[in-house]
Amino acid sequence: MLFPPRIVSVLLPQPLPEPFDYELPEGVEAPPGSFVVGPLVPREVIGVVWGERTVPSNRKLKPVLEVIAQAPLLPANMRTFIERAAKYVCAPVGNLLAMAMRSREALDEPPVELLVVASGQTPERMTPAREKVLAEAGAPLSGADLARAAGVSSGVVKGLLDAGALTHVERSLDPPFPLPDPERPPRDLTGEQKEAAGYLRDMVRDNTYRAALLDGVTGSGKTEVYFEAIAEALRRDPDAQVLVLLPEIALTQAVTSRFEDRFGVVPAEWHSAAGSAARRRVWREVAAGRARIVVGARSALFLPYRKLRLIIVDEEHDQSYKQEEGVIYHARDLAVLRASIEQCAIILASATPSLETMANAQQGKYSHLKLSARPGVAQLPSIARADMRHAPTDTNRWIGPDLAAAITQTLAAKEQALLFLNRRGYAPLVLCRACGERLKAPDSDSWLVEHRYSGKLVCHLTGYTMDKPLVCPHCGAKGSLTGVGPGVERLAEEVHTRFHGARVEVLSSDTVTSPDALRELITRMENGAIDILIGTQIVAKGHNFPTLTLVGVVDADAGLRGGDLRAGERTFQLLLQVAGRAGRADKPGRAIIQTYAPDSPAIALLAAGDRDAFIAYEMDQRRLVGFPPYGRLGAIILSAPSAEQANECAAAFSAAQPNASGVEVWGPAPAPITVLRGRHRRRFLVRSDRNVDLSAFLAAWKERVKLPSNVRVALDVEPYSFM
Ligand code: ADP
Repeated sequence: MLFPPRIVSVLLPQPLPEPFDYELPEGVEAPPGSFVVGPLVPREVIGVVWGERTVPSNRKLKPVLEVIAQAPLLPANMRTFIERAAKYVCAPVGNLLAMAMRSREALDEPPVELLVVASGQTPERMTPAREKVLAEAGAPLSGADLARAAGVSSGVVKGLLDAGALTHVERSLDPPFPLPDPERPPRDLTGEQKEAAGYLRDMVRDNTYRAALLDGVTGSGKTEVYFEAIAEALRRDPDAQVLVLLPEIALTQAVTSRFEDRFGVVPAEWHSAAGSAARRRVWREVAAGRARIVVGARSALFLPYRKLRLIIVDEEHDQSYKQEEGVIYHARDLAVLRASIEQCAIILASATPSLETMANAQQGKYSHLKLSARPGVAQLPSIARADMRHAPTDTNRWIGPDLAAAITQTLAAKEQALLFLNRRGYAPLVLCRACGERLKAPDSDSWLVEHRYSGKLVCHLTGYTMDKPLVCPHCGAKGSLTGVGPGVERLAEEVHTRFHGARVEVLSSDTVTSPDALRELITRMENGAIDILIGTQIVAKGHNFPTLTLVGVVDADAGLRGGDLRAGERTFQLLLQVAGRAGRADKPGRAIIQTYAPDSPAIALLAAGDRDAFIAYEMDQRRLVGFPPYGRLGAIILSAPSAEQANECAAAFSAAQPNASGVEVWGPAPAPITVLRGRHRRRFLVRSDRNVDLSAFLAAWKERVKLPSNVRVALDVEPYSFM
């Protein structure tokens, strides 16, 4: 009797909305989660078995070519997460699988090196050289190292291998991560820290999905507190894994050394800057369940944990959790989804929680734990506004009199100052004084930024770079191009001329380009080898500089000018975070905030130190218009090679809009960045009530429009960028 062929559905890491069916050859086993090779004309692709089919297909199916036997199974929870995340962010499920398969090498045979050790046999013929080698051959060494240690030629080692006196052993090139020890003594926690830690320990012990907001002022010891939750997860279950998400790679260094203090080992680190060998090791060890603590950037959420018991999203409000390229997703939202699928605990930590998280806490969906003070003698910094409307204007000077006086005092007291300006380069705009032309990149609608250290003009959206022209490309005037406004490089120029002898450094992604260089600069700042640090938002987050007592915000209004939905919230968070760098040890700190809008709610309430009033104000504003967290938002971004085509497609989209109640659509409108990399962009903004499945609405809408293949559509659920 002929059995019908067995059929498996295989998801491929490609922009595909669903798995493909393949025939499973006789005698081959491939349970769900297996990595297999399947033909996908014109290539062969590695995918994952997603399910088995019992209903035979009436088509002739291609066969599974190979089952990758040495690869682990992709766990069922991970597959569920991939599916549900794809639905939520409106992306093809294959694209989410691709994110989970970032380390292609992890599926190969584990790489090993061949070492030699003594076998215990004595060779028939013994020579002095052979004796020396056998005396050294205790621990496994490479043949070359052994020969070197014994001071003999490699021929002697080979001879001993042939004679059977030495033997080969394999050692993995991906050694397991050492086990963290939860029983090492923690710090003496303060009363409120103890209370929060106790609550979180209980939450972890519950062994089910529970979420908590750890809402503590900057420097209140949130890290110390969540360490206790991690210790509890590790203690309870010898296989438990813990994921700690951080918004910036720049922060991992400082945090990993704190992990080492608390748990005796550095955790597994995962981020895009890690090399492929490091990624392979982490992926494999996570899949094997041996990496117990993983610290990483947002993509660490897509690792194949076997037994995830706790997720921590540190600085949960941070915008870097939103990925804007490729699959557009918010790692905080997906972390909550993942925790609910894994039925594990999740802690969202911040001094300035996002309104979304605050709303969840207010509605009781998340427990709300508060830390109101810094431990010991450290005090929260005072925050003062410097009203620039009344400051004498001095061209090419951006430090007003209040801030300048404070810098002078700080230097005299041998303390450190941090000047915050969220603009990279020398000048954010290059203008022709003859014709008024503002220089733009040839293929994009964004201004070119002047960089003096590198001598280039740079488009910060696309990375396009050119030399600064000698004549205006528009009117041909000579020497008329001039940089307008300050960037950090220009601010450094002003600081050098006004504060002679001060040791000044600039920290931005252009000046510090490698993790090592960053570590070195942070260490010098910690050790007091820098007097004035000038930085972009990299300096705002997480760092602890004991003698930093003054934070100067050069242009507090910068983030308010864009005026998008979150401008106020973002400004408030960023400025409170940066102010929070001051006075973290025994010396009191202060922040001076230069502003032309001292009465805007974000700035006024920041200076009043009234975060809760600011949140209440913002919540009211959002409630009035039904914006998040009181409603949902989505964006559709179309882009086409020409403006005409962009308009036609936008019209086609408009015409296809599905009927739905509780949904409002604005647009199409030219995107603020109308041309990007030569593509013309149109946007729709969609608002819905909270009870509407906006993801499904957007996906259904897109499904109804057939567009030419050169037109791209990006769907953005809960957009953060409106450009
Ligand atoms: P946050 O994450 O809330 O900004 P951290 O956990 O980084 O705060 O703590 C800020 C500083 O205070 C760190 O240097 C930390 O080691 C220290 N610290 C926190 N709690 C205590 C404590 N109970 N005793 C002594 N030092 C503490």
